[in-house]
Amino acid sequence: MKYLKFKNNYEQVPIGKLVCVGRNYAAHANELGNDVPEFPLIFLKPASNVIFSGESVVHPAYSKDLHHEVELVLYIGKEVKDADDTTAEEAIHGYTVGLDMTLRDLQFEFKKKGEPWTLAKCFDTAAVLSDVVLKNDYKFTGTENISLSVNGLVKQNSSLANMVFSPVEIVKYISARMKLEKGDLIFTGTPEGVGRVVPDDKIDAEIENIGKLSTQVIH
Ligand code: MG
Repeated sequence: MKYLKFKNNYEQVPIGKLVCVGRNYAAHANELGNDVPEFPLIFLKPASNVIFSGESVVHPAYSKDLHHEVELVLYIGKEVKDADDTTAEEAIHGYTVGLDMTLRDLQFEFKKKGEPWTLAKCFDTAAVLSDVVLKNDYKFTGTENISLSVNGLVKQNSSLANMVFSPVEIVKYISARMKLEKGDLIFTGTPEGVGRVVPDDKIDAEIENIGKLSTQVIH
């Protein structure tokens, strides 16, 4: 079992399910040739995929196109089902930086065949996290800068203000379909600039005032 890491908190919280949103920034949807969806596009990753900043992403040998995606991640701190605006906001207890590592070549193949993306999104080390900052310690504005660099070169650089669906809208949408529980994490989508990484690349990602992470890609 994996536990969350917090900035200023020593509570032990096991990581629950990782619920991920796709195509939540218009410029990123466009760069992959997709329209912005009418409703959030949802997929899952298992908790066992999680590693933390400082650990390494292991490049699967069966893919030739591993991509980085930096994302705001919501920490769900209490159970919620069929949330409204108020209970959605109350269920979000904190924020962290995440990488939704993606096997883009597999994803394109699955999309073409109309098959699930699961194996393009789920592999060991496919989700990288920084420490969670709790709402009590930080007032979220929704306009924080989000960025990622590979070997010191900036690849993704945007603002959380460019998200199509806000954190509250996302929690309302998901919780109307499956309950969210304490320890669940929601990956809220990536801005434009996604691209390939190869073994030995070093990735640094940051969301202004929320956190930073770094990881290395290895064989
Ligand atoms: Mg993503």
